[in-house]
Amino acid sequence: MEDTPITRPLVVVTNREPYVDERTRRGIRVLPNAGGVVSALDPLLRKMGGDWVAWGSGSADRQTAPGGIRPVPLKDPRYRLHRIYLSPDEVQGYYNRYANQGLWPLSHMLIERARFSRQAWSVYRSVNLKFARKVAREGAADALIFSHDYQLALFPSLLRQLRPELAIAHFWHIPWPTFTVLRLCPQYQEILRGLLGADVLGFQTDDDVEAFLTSVERTFRHVLVDRTTQQVQWQGRTVQVTAFPISVDIEEIERLAQSPRVTRFAHGIRRRLASGGQQLGISVERADYTKGIIPRLEALREFFTRYPHRRGQVNFLQIVVPTRSEVNAYRTLFRQVEEETERLNREFGTADWKPVLTVRRSVDRTRLTGLFRAADFALVSSLFDGMNLVAKEFVSSQIEGRGVLLLSETAGASQELDAALSVNPWDPEGFAATLEQALSLPAEERIRRMQAMQKQIHGHTLFDWVTAILIALEAASEHYVRT
Ligand code: UDP
Repeated sequence: MEDTPITRPLVVVTNREPYVDERTRRGIRVLPNAGGVVSALDPLLRKMGGDWVAWGSGSADRQTAPGGIRPVPLKDPRYRLHRIYLSPDEVQGYYNRYANQGLWPLSHMLIERARFSRQAWSVYRSVNLKFARKVAREGAADALIFSHDYQLALFPSLLRQLRPELAIAHFWHIPWPTFTVLRLCPQYQEILRGLLGADVLGFQTDDDVEAFLTSVERTFRHVLVDRTTQQVQWQGRTVQVTAFPISVDIEEIERLAQSPRVTRFAHGIRRRLASGGQQLGISVERADYTKGIIPRLEALREFFTRYPHRRGQVNFLQIVVPTRSEVNAYRTLFRQVEEETERLNREFGTADWKPVLTVRRSVDRTRLTGLFRAADFALVSSLFDGMNLVAKEFVSSQIEGRGVLLLSETAGASQELDAALSVNPWDPEGFAATLEQALSLPAEERIRRMQAMQKQIHGHTLFDWVTAILIALEAASEHYVRT
């Protein structure tokens, strides 16, 4: 990792912890938490040192964290993980209900799925306060506080009340809804106030920034919102609202993609699923209704109906990872995906060809990189998505450049990866036609598009993302101290 220009102590605050310690029959197992945020911040903290505050969710978490602090790594520690323990009722109200059944669908504009309750709200608020108290007790006066996402929307202002002098950046990883949708949330004004406690508010795209600024303007009519500087004047402070599109560590992914292990794996996969002129397609996501898995299966049905000569010529591998199984809607979706996939396979499959193969569990980084490298095309069909890191990981792994990316125009990544073939997940016929176009693209065209996207990611890496936010925070908080 390149050098970081940040010199002030860093405190990262997230809902999920980077390492979960689980009790097993063979002793304690450390489970690293996969996902973009952790893979961005863990190397940074290992390099800079610092503190990370998160919910301690593992069965052995208390055991490995005397006094609530778990050194990372356990041997030769580089930073401190401060664990916050939540009761089952707290997890239910704060996480499963208010965050995942309320704010998550609302922010993805899937309003008929959103459920709010005052009871869940009150738990959400009290857990946010728990986080704020923890940081208020331990944060150094010159610390940069970097909090994250929709589980902690109230954290910035709650912390501000306890420690007015602290510099706080908050990054919202998911889309910001339009004001018409936002106002359906009974607590939307408190959510806005909560976030405006930060000095820097980061979003994935300019559209999100624009929607947020409009929400502030429409809600608090006396508040000054400057569209040119993207600043909000709030309670005597300036809040900088900016788009910082999150990214991936492309150099690391390229190294992994070229490694002998991944090379062997990718060749093996191609021998099995892409020989004799067949093309291998892939999709990777949590089984979340925002990812558009059912609409994608519909588009595939349309595709095999309209282009019968493609039957037997395409192997599509979908990796569908179970997620949030405490929430009903997710269990139902997982079943539906199974049923719809079986239906499609019955309809088009033959004795020696199954159109869609499914992996129903999480796949590790090495295999994932191998699959991305091996694939001829990837389908990202999100109905709405803050960024979609899978799209960027696919591009980064494509060292031969044979793959075509079909990318939903409503995923944040589509604003940057404009050499992808754009699809509208709500338009099955158009989706099918674009897939046919993708399969027919000549090799030179595929390479040209892939290289353009790789260049884009090289110019905007994960470390650029973290650094840009922290530099903005240093600048914003200096300004705040001076005025
Ligand atoms: N991921 C993984 N194994 C899997 C499926 C997904 O490690 O089997 C990772 C994937 O590589 C990516 C993250 O989970 O880094 C998903 O991030 P994304 O932004 O695409 O979607 P999210 O799940 O955050 O909505």
